[in-house]
Amino acid sequence: MAFPILCVGSVALDTVETPFGQAKEALGGSATYFSYSASALAPVRLVAVVGEDFPQRHLALLRKRRVDLSGLQVVSGGRTFRWHGKFGDNLNEAVTLRTELNVFETFRPEIPSRFRDSPVVFLANIDPELQMEVLGQVKNPKIVLCDTMNLWIETKIASLRKLLRRVDVITLNEGEARLLTEKLNLASCAREILKMGPRRVVIKRGEYGATTFTKDNFFALPAYPLEEIEDPTGAGDTFAGGVVGELARLERFDEASFRRALVRGSVHASFVVEGFSLEGLKRATPGARSR
Ligand code: AMP
Repeated sequence: MAFPILCVGSVALDTVETPFGQAKEALGGSATYFSYSASALAPVRLVAVVGEDFPQRHLALLRKRRVDLSGLQVVSGGRTFRWHGKFGDNLNEAVTLRTELNVFETFRPEIPSRFRDSPVVFLANIDPELQMEVLGQVKNPKIVLCDTMNLWIETKIASLRKLLRRVDVITLNEGEARLLTEKLNLASCAREILKMGPRRVVIKRGEYGATTFTKDNFFALPAYPLEEIEDPTGAGDTFAGGVVGELARLERFDEASFRRALVRGSVHASFVVEGFSLEGLKRATPGARSR
């Protein structure tokens, strides 16, 4: 048994350029990477929106992982969210070239009634106002985790701060942690973020791994050493999928479980960066990184 996970976030068509190639309108989105990754470990209930232009084969891929898509709205005549990003020599940080919100501009998340008592809630990266709307519809979750990005820190800081008062755990990358706190030192960033509400912060550091802080503990984990990276897009969401999936599988949220979950997240992320879109992750098999 494992706790089911409710996830809200973006389902996208991504155009991505890296030093090793490019992908055009490929399957992406924070909720997509998260769901695919977490569904290896626990049942996932997805709440998101796409347009009529969204290819059916992408939905089939998620269905095959038994991701419950009954909370996915398909807007007739609508255009799916699109993101265009680029990675330069620094593979740890994406540069956004263009964001087309499209169907997200009018999206109002509606949690199907049988999802409302989900014990684990993951608010993947989307507008913090939408993340908040989801929180307003769930009943007594055991744990709420969220992610965010620089765009929302820069444009919706008041809503984000309101959200942070309501979540147990936040995952964000190093650059975002610095932007949010206006501090440079990571331990200082973590201390500031803990003051904003969450009882745990997980800071993702790309090829340098991840570090988690609570008021009383910290734990740092290096990334799995890879020689070939093709596209880091989705690494953060895939990492979160591994972390939250493992916590849901264990049905525990104590310090030891979080440390174990971070290892799982790091292994999942190490697969996704080996290919564009979800290709690397699709190649993952149980035990493949166990040597
Ligand atoms: P990451 O795991 O941080 O690399 O996230 C990559 C994913 O975030 C991409 O697949 C994008 O589609 C998605 N994304 C980028 N910008 C936004 C945004 N403003 N809102 C929601 N999702 C986004």
